[in-house]
Amino acid sequence: MPTPGLDGYTPAWLKPEHEDLAELARAFFTKEVVPHAARLEAQGHPDREHYRQAGELGLLGLSVPEEFGGGGGDFTHEAVLLTEQTFSGEGSLGLAVHSGIVTGYITAYGTEEQKRRWLPGLCDGSLVGAIGMTEPDGGSDLQAIRTRAVQDGDEYVVTGAKTFITNGGVADLLILAVKTDTTQGAGGISLIVCELEDGAPGFRRGRLLDKIGLHANDTAELFFDEYRVPTANLLGSEGGGFFQMMAQLPQERLVIGVGAVAVMQRAVELATAYAKERKAFGKPLIGHQNTRMVLAECATRTRVARIFLDDCVERHVRGELDVATAAMAKYWLTEGQCEVVDRCLQIFGGYGYTTEYPIARMYADARVQKIYGGTNEIMKELIARVL
Ligand SMILES: Cc1cc2nc3c(=O)[nH]c(=O)nc-3n(C[C@H](O)[C@H](O)[C@H](O)COP(=O)(O)OP(=O)(O)OC[C@H]3O[C@@H](n4cnc5c(N)ncnc54)[C@H](O)[C@@H]3O)c2cc1C
Repeated sequence: MPTPGLDGYTPAWLKPEHEDLAELARAFFTKEVVPHAARLEAQGHPDREHYRQAGELGLLGLSVPEEFGGGGGDFTHEAVLLTEQTFSGEGSLGLAVHSGIVTGYITAYGTEEQKRRWLPGLCDGSLVGAIGMTEPDGGSDLQAIRTRAVQDGDEYVVTGAKTFITNGGVADLLILAVKTDTTQGAGGISLIVCELEDGAPGFRRGRLLDKIGLHANDTAELFFDEYRVPTANLLGSEGGGFFQMMAQLPQERLVIGVGAVAVMQRAVELATAYAKERKAFGKPLIGHQNTRMVLAECATRTRVARIFLDDCVERHVRGELDVATAAMAKYWLTEGQCEVVDRCLQIFGGYGYTTEYPIARMYADARVQKIYGGTNEIMKELIARVL
């Protein structure tokens, strides 16, 4: 079955090389990681070893240039990897952030020296990446962040707190949004790369947050109290951080869209299989007209989502994905995910509410998709701006 067109539809961008990658990724997730799912959920974070294994197989940094240890591909390769992770039901590795976001920032804004220092480790899995924008006081209004970095010789002294940081429990490399000029809004924001080390003076990881879903992936608070970072770790230009984030956020939103559509496809597939096997009133559920209608509607919603997503992927690869279209994708695809998963769960009846069935986890995991990466309300603001 070609990936990611589970229902027989194949995106125009899918080439034989993607099929090989999909096969490799599928085997890795299903054989190496998924068998540990219960333990990973209980511990609340992934195994470092699985990042290293993924790196050894060449599954990390697929869109990073080969000279820096990556796969030399583009966003389509990252999309295939994330789709396979979703299809397999693997939910511990924070690849959407590690590969889908962090390597992209360093590739786009790193100096030659920074790229040589950080990208090979992110690609071989010896480093895990994270990005810290959101603060306890607010995430939507990025211009208002309060974490500040004051230059002292050849170091920045960082004070502040970040929260909800994906991979924050295990990350070694954090792209941190700070105010280098507190008198300004957007123009005062810079990005600095923190090489996190537990026990380093001024740095502390908070607790892993207890979430309603995504139990195997770590989401953490991070605290900085006069924490020192070399000025050489500034990513891009001082004061340019907000604009760098705005330039990268369309990819982050597309990454979320890729996950949303993969979940929709999986939900329809699981619910269809269940409807064929489960009987009520003397016949399989699929023999009841309402079940067929619901599945037909969900399959159609999913196909339309897939085609919109593929159009966005192609635009992004051409460098033409604009902010409003990326916001449309993030908002509409995640709404679709929540709707389709909810309707598919209903087909499972009571079993759909038990965590023994993947659809229950998919339901709990789906909710955050409308919140992170910029809430769907903020997406609509971005769309409305260009109307
Ligand atoms: C599991 C998880 C993982 C995350 N991973 C990361 C990460 O890796 N890095 C990171 O930096 N952040 C991360 N986040 C944070 C996430 O991006 C923020 O939660 C999100 O941006 C919203 O910010 P907030 O929670 O502070 O909500 P607020 O900004 O306080 O918003 C609260 C509500 O008000 C609404 N609202 C706010 N402003 C407006 C407006 N102008 N118009 C209309 N409505 C508005 C919002 O839409 C929302 O419904 C993660 C969050 C979660 C839950």
